[in-house]
Amino acid sequence: MKIAIIAHDGKKADMVAFLLDHKEILGQVELVATGTTGQHVQNAGLKVKRFLSGPLGGDAQIAALAAEKDLDLVIFFRDPLDKHPHEPDVQMLMRICDVHNIPLATNPKGAELMIAGLMDKV
Ligand code: PGA
Repeated sequence: MKIAIIAHDGKKADMVAFLLDHKEILGQVELVATGTTGQHVQNAGLKVKRFLSGPLGGDAQIAALAAEKDLDLVIFFRDPLDKHPHEPDVQMLMRICDVHNIPLATNPKGAELMIAGLMDKV
């Protein structure tokens, strides 16, 4: 089970809270993350493989995993109230998830339901 974790700056605190709430379950899966989000994931005490920071291509690296069907879930807490220089990469990642039918959660409630669904399956 491999899960990708990404959070825009305005949502990193929400992501850390989410990770801590689900630390037990997430500790059992392979986590990958964009660079800065990954740093927060590590600070929360979880093991994670970190890619480049999002604006430097990290979202694109995660999209490449999704394109190879090498991901079971993408959790991407986007900040809808801010602008992002790498918005094209964000759109590309979401499109690739849809192309390859990879579950994508963009807020904590959705992520919670999807994690529960995935864990039921294993
Ligand atoms: P970051 O990238 O984790 O390196 O901040 C996230 C993003 O795509 O904004």
